[in-house]
Amino acid sequence: NANRKFHPEDTVVKVGNTQIGGGSLTIMAGPCSVESEEQVVAIAKAVKASGATMLRGGAFKPRTSPYSFQGLGATGLEYLKIARQETGLPIVTELMDLSQLPLFKDVDVIQIGARNMQNFDLLKAVGHQDKPVMIKRGMSATYEEWLMSAEYVMAGGNENVILCERGIRTFESYTRNTLDLACIPVMRRLTHLPIIIDPSHATGKSWLVEPLSMGAVATGADGLQIEVHNDPAHALCDGPQSLKPEDFDPLAKKLLKLHAELQSLGE
Ligand code: PEP
Ligand code: MN
Repeated sequence: NANRKFHPEDTVVKVGNTQIGGGSLTIMAGPCSVESEEQVVAIAKAVKASGATMLRGGAFKPRTSPYSFQGLGATGLEYLKIARQETGLPIVTELMDLSQLPLFKDVDVIQIGARNMQNFDLLKAVGHQDKPVMIKRGMSATYEEWLMSAEYVMAGGNENVILCERGIRTFESYTRNTLDLACIPVMRRLTHLPIIIDPSHATGKSWLVEPLSMGAVATGADGLQIEVHNDPAHALCDGPQSLKPEDFDPLAKKLLKLHAELQSLGE
């Protein structure tokens, strides 16, 4: 059960030799989409050196237009595994459809995208998997609906659920979405599950990633998911919101420092 009332202590999700929740700050970073082996390995090495503890990267991509790059699919998953082998970083990647599930056996964390947050058959299927599942908040989902999606996974016996806020749809169009930082304290109160903030999809603009990441850490997030690309101008997906490794590096260090300082204040 996802409800704090029935489970007062915080859930700590173990992933490889790292963990999500329990007072640590998890930084997941990597490209929106895996584009080639060289690309994902180079980015993985860079983000690891900066302090990231997980590698993100999409192989199956939920694109708004059918004419946009749809991801490398199974080949992309292979490249992610090579990057994991090279760096030791566990991988988090999106599962879009039940038919892809056999390919995800060796993935560390299964991501359920915002567009699939209420794909109940998909949620039931990952509820029977023996691996952590990160559920991104649907772009117009209420807290209650988001928690019910977590409940679907947990009802199948999989208790290793992570929540990820990635911005919601509002009337504002300057930013890609509107980041709801209030969800952190609200979710803390309602549930024991860890919560990750994705400032990249929330804003759509690379220059907004730093201030909102700092805000998320100050508000008590368990971690961040940040898009990093070696050549954002030529990225096949989400270039405008992607940080270059050289800009991610000082940010990751700043976030870890802020987190440590807040902990020493006894937040
Ligand atoms: C992603 O993380 O690659 C992604 C597509 O995010 P979202 O589902 O939040 O749009
Ligand atoms: Mn993206």
